[in-house]
Amino acid sequence: MLKFPIYLDNSATTPMDPRVLDAMVPYYLDHFGNAASRNHPFGWEAEDAVDKAREQIAKLINCTEKEIIFTSGATEGDNLAIKGIYDMYARKGNHIITVTTEHKAVLDTCKHLEKLGAQITYLGVDSEGNIDLNELENAITDKTILVAIMYANNEVGTIHPIKKIAEITHKKGALLFTDATQAAGKISIDVERDGIDLMAFTAHKMYGPKGVGALYVRRKNPRVKVTAQMDGGGHERGMRSGTLNVPGIVGFGKACEIAMNEMDADAERLSKLRDKLDTALLSLEESYLNGNKNSRLPQLTNISFKYVEGEGLMMAFNQNIAVSSGSACTSASLEPSYVLKALGLGDDLAHSSLRFSLGRFSTEEQVDYTIEQVTKAVHKLREMSPLWEMFKEGIDLSTIEWAAH
Ligand SMILES: *Cc1c(COP(=O)(O)O)cnc(C)c1O
Repeated sequence: MLKFPIYLDNSATTPMDPRVLDAMVPYYLDHFGNAASRNHPFGWEAEDAVDKAREQIAKLINCTEKEIIFTSGATEGDNLAIKGIYDMYARKGNHIITVTTEHKAVLDTCKHLEKLGAQITYLGVDSEGNIDLNELENAITDKTILVAIMYANNEVGTIHPIKKIAEITHKKGALLFTDATQAAGKISIDVERDGIDLMAFTAHKMYGPKGVGALYVRRKNPRVKVTAQMDGGGHERGMRSGTLNVPGIVGFGKACEIAMNEMDADAERLSKLRDKLDTALLSLEESYLNGNKNSRLPQLTNISFKYVEGEGLMMAFNQNIAVSSGSACTSASLEPSYVLKALGLGDDLAHSSLRFSLGRFSTEEQVDYTIEQVTKAVHKLREMSPLWEMFKEGIDLSTIEWAAH
């Protein structure tokens, strides 16, 4: 039996896995101690729990426990990594390289540093969201301290070749930071294999609680340090002060342990469901896949339905199915997604896109229902669309001069 509404927006946040909640509850009620209280059992219990979680998290990405700095989420991790490196390595240089399709937490942090004197290079992407590795190599100078490139994109799912990016970055003596929020727990990440120096990720996108994340900071080959962005008690080896969110951290640890055990099976099942969704929706006339079909997150697809407005399309079924559209509501205007624009999509295709992101609790029945509903809505909206009618009559819409409005 289908239960409504159906959730296909797992790239925005995931529901918690019940096993994660079960692990957390005792740390709200019985074991509520402050992990920094060194002189009684309440503190020791909390510290033990944090240590265990650190191990579970470290195992998922193949680092050591000491390399995990707890944060409030990926936004904080992105800020701490980029601002922290900018401050710590100021004597070496002031140049940072990033990409136009990064998350706002990275782009706006870079913009902030630009005002303080940083030099930022924003690399463009091709129509599938890939960067040009030669362009990256040529952009690195002796003033470059950091390359900040996400592991996988949150809107279109394109996975960047992080290992190759790391090789290029290190050859020129810079550090590599990756925002792995969408990739962690979904596809294999190994900071040693991949050559990552810093990496941000968050629990609530991998079936853990909201408000807790981690920044991995390499301690060997080379030893990396970031300047704290918050002053206080000197927690987390001085890099991030503040009383630890013990229940959240316990949940994050459990979420990583589950991901470690179930990631491959989840990815296999979800990529099959995603492919079913893709095949059906891309068989509709004038529908286009956004992103890199061959290097893409297994649980996500982003499709443009030309001559249909994405927000309108979503409204046709969003009482029953939750997805994301390619337009972000900023104040009063509907701006098309800057990520899709960076891929070179025109306003028409960017405005007509939907992101479907599946998760551990998505079922085939839900996908079948979604295919049926989206297909129906696309047909219905096109029937009412003068643009669609003109397209069907063979009129080349690009040659039409529109009256000003
Ligand atoms: C969700 C997301 C973030 C923000 O994570 P929070 O934990 O919500 O702060 C950052 N980067 C990417 C790529 C994301 O998808």
